[in-house]
Amino acid sequence: MQANYHTHTVRCHHAEGTEREYIEQAIARKLETLGFSDHSPQVFDGGYVSGKRMLPEQLEEYVATLQSLREEYAGRIEILIGLEAEYYPKYFGRLMDLIRPYHLDYLLLGQHYLGNEEEGLPPCPRPTEDEGRLERYVRQVTEGMETGAFSCVVHPDILNYTGDRKINRKWYEKLCVRAKELGIPLEMNMLGFATNRNYPNSDFFRIVCDVGNKVVLGCDAHAPSRVADPSEIERCMAFLKACGIQETSNRMKLVPPTR
Ligand SMILES: [Zn+2]
Ligand SMILES: [Zn+2]
Repeated sequence: MQANYHTHTVRCHHAEGTEREYIEQAIARKLETLGFSDHSPQVFDGGYVSGKRMLPEQLEEYVATLQSLREEYAGRIEILIGLEAEYYPKYFGRLMDLIRPYHLDYLLLGQHYLGNEEEGLPPCPRPTEDEGRLERYVRQVTEGMETGAFSCVVHPDILNYTGDRKINRKWYEKLCVRAKELGIPLEMNMLGFATNRNYPNSDFFRIVCDVGNKVVLGCDAHAPSRVADPSEIERCMAFLKACGIQETSNRMKLVPPTR
């Protein structure tokens, strides 16, 4: 593993360790690039506050902390500053306005909720046999990819559809085809793999294999020990191979999220 772009910080309320610990771990495991992508802040209407992301007023300090570490570690490891953001149609313009002044290196698209989060719809990993939820997820992620603001879709298979496999393939194939057309890589999420979540899903990665998407391994590190764990990487590669995917690269083209 040369690079990992999927790293969190304590600001999201469900990660641990200091930024320095993540960086030291990355250096010890011979990464050339470590990208931070904590859950993006989001200003909602009606006073709703998300408990799973940094507050908008923490963004400045997040960026400043990482900038100073980037300078300190220059020559030893490349530090990138990004965010993992949702595509919420109602709030996307607001998100871009919030982040624009910081000239971030990239955004990851991680869609944990349908709609705009505040509506309280069940989170995407909740099992469902409702094709409508799968369709809505695929349409929402597709719209997000089409904004041009995202460099990668992380855990693209997070919507946990437990119904007919043909229906599952029908919708997820649309997502994969559009991602390929747009040149957006798809992540195999190492955290989901290590903790036996519903993603990564082997049916999904067989579709990825058939469509021929670029696949990137992402640590989704919420603890320093999760950065580029060699035994996990080996197991993930075996999983992908079993799905027919021979090639992964841990480099991706980064799109600065300005529009
Ligand atoms: Zn998280
Ligand atoms: Zn993440």
